Amino acid sequence: MALGEFELIERYFKRPPRRGDTVLGVGDDAALLRVPPGQLLVAAVDTLVEGRHFLDDAPADSVGHQSLAVNLSDLAAMGAEPAWALLSLSLPEIDEAWLTSFAAGIQTLAARSGIEIVGGDTVRGPLVVTVTVMGFVPDDQALRRSGARPGETLYISGAPGEAAAGLALLRADRTTDPDDVLVRRHRYAEPRIDLGRALRGRASAAMDVSDGLLGDLAKLCAASGVGARVELEKLPLSRALLARSSRHDAERYVLRGGDDYELLFTLPQQTDAAILAGLQALCPVTRIGVIERGSGVLCTRGGVAVDVPGSGYDHFA
Ligand code: ADP
Ligand code: MG
Repeated sequence: MALGEFELIERYFKRPPRRGDTVLGVGDDAALLRVPPGQLLVAAVDTLVEGRHFLDDAPADSVGHQSLAVNLSDLAAMGAEPAWALLSLSLPEIDEAWLTSFAAGIQTLAARSGIEIVGGDTVRGPLVVTVTVMGFVPDDQALRRSGARPGETLYISGAPGEAAAGLALLRADRTTDPDDVLVRRHRYAEPRIDLGRALRGRASAAMDVSDGLLGDLAKLCAASGVGARVELEKLPLSRALLARSSRHDAERYVLRGGDDYELLFTLPQQTDAAILAGLQALCPVTRIGVIERGSGVLCTRGGVAVDVPGSGYDHFA
């Protein structure tokens, strides 16, 4: 590569050390990281492939943002404190303008969330970005998918569906205003790290919505060995969604859209108002249903069962 792999890493990805628990970051054969005593290391990885996970004309800073955000969302869903990231980049060519913008996107979110990029890999190939994140959580406080129990209440954070609607706008017309609220939600959605942290010791189960609320709720139910009832009239339909789509389509985006990095979680029925108010202070949370005995997800409207076909996106379907 023309710029040289070493210069490229130095210029775009090596930053002055920020974290005291990074013993050794970028530059050696591997990073040395210190996990605080009494905490578990939490690790997650996600790969973004051009044309599949982001559009081929996506702004480079949005690709940088998304590559880290999708991983931070997994940490949030575990209730973890973000700490470190590894960045594996496959690039068809050295495009310095693209790299500058990509690095700004990933480094801005990294700085904001306390993440330090401590290593990675750089190769020539099709445009593929793989980020591994690591964080930690107190030994017995990780949020799992498997803890939901019948009688508990089901919540969703924020405004699910907006990112999918933004992507649909871009797919229909690549010249859609980049400042459109929905387009920005698709490109620059914020992972719910604060909410995940606040749910520790409170939520019985949690996961982030990546493949659609319905499909992901089905996974949570399967992991917990329970069923769920979703009251469709309770779904949060954001103003931005309703401004751009019919009520029917807005509901579809909420049920099937992913990658808003919203959290789906369950709370004991007798969770007090002060705790809920504390969560609401971080971001909107909406009660959308209840956990029941049995299996699978039942949708109701006005108390009557409604057949809502399908579930989440399946990569192998
Ligand atoms: P090695 O050949 O030993 O795997 P490399 O020459 O690939 O090492 O990388 C040298 C250093 O630069 C390592 O610390 C590695 O983690 C880091 N690095 C390589 N690519 C990236 C990248 N895209 N972002 C951040 N760090 C990187
Ligand atoms: Mg080596």
